[in-house]
Amino acid sequence: MNSLDFQNLRSAQGKFRTPRFKSTWFQPRTVILLGPPGAGKGTQAQRIAGQCGLKHLSTGDMLRDNIYRDTELAKKAKPLINRGELVPDEIVLGMVKERIAQPDCKNGFILDGFPRTLRQAQGLEEICVPHKSKAATVLNFAVKAELLVRRLINRRICNKCGHIYNLIEHPPEHSGICDLDGSELLQRADDAEEVVRERICTYERHTRPLIDYYAAKGVLHEVEGTSDPDAVTASILKVLNK
Ligand code: ADP
Repeated sequence: MNSLDFQNLRSAQGKFRTPRFKSTWFQPRTVILLGPPGAGKGTQAQRIAGQCGLKHLSTGDMLRDNIYRDTELAKKAKPLINRGELVPDEIVLGMVKERIAQPDCKNGFILDGFPRTLRQAQGLEEICVPHKSKAATVLNFAVKAELLVRRLINRRICNKCGHIYNLIEHPPEHSGICDLDGSELLQRADDAEEVVRERICTYERHTRPLIDYYAAKGVLHEVEGTSDPDAVTASILKVLNK
């Protein structure tokens, strides 16, 4: 099994009052998936995005795409990602602002891996003002640290379609090969055990405080991330279809 080198990974108010006829139906919806690395945010985002007509936006995938294209942004981001640290807020905020202005986000989006700091959460609110988005729905995935490590070091990703496997919980039918398109499965460089442990520490320090931030706003919903993936999807859809 190859180690996945980022270079080789392709991924995936104005002053005027709202006209009275404009129904909230047309307001773009923001869904935030909050939780530690390995909690299943990416897997669930892939499953629910199509069903809900929302665009799946992963800041991790956007950063890896920059690394693949060897952009200026990647020069700063790559060493930080490889150490399990966060990329600076202003870089990530700029990237998200540009992405959600694209036409494929007009119905709304699922944010996977963003926001990760209080500054990013506040920045997101500022970015969403001109889009007149509805208040975000935040889904917090709770999973114990030891399970996270086991999941991440056993995670494999299809080099072509990005489908996520787990060698223990959800292995491919044929070792190292994607069930969906027959492409090679790779391991992300930052899924090495020591980097995984650092990513979990980074989450505890910078991202966990967002649970209280969103709970205080009354938009937080808890998801039992240890259940099997189908049960997790069903509980998320129940919240989103309310
Ligand atoms: P995971 O959620 O499993 O850690 P991601 O693919 O979301 O994986 O992120 C991989 C890495 O990319 C992170 O460890 C971090 O270095 C960087 N990154 C992703 N999203 C952000 C963000 N919102 N803010 C800062 N850094 C980020």
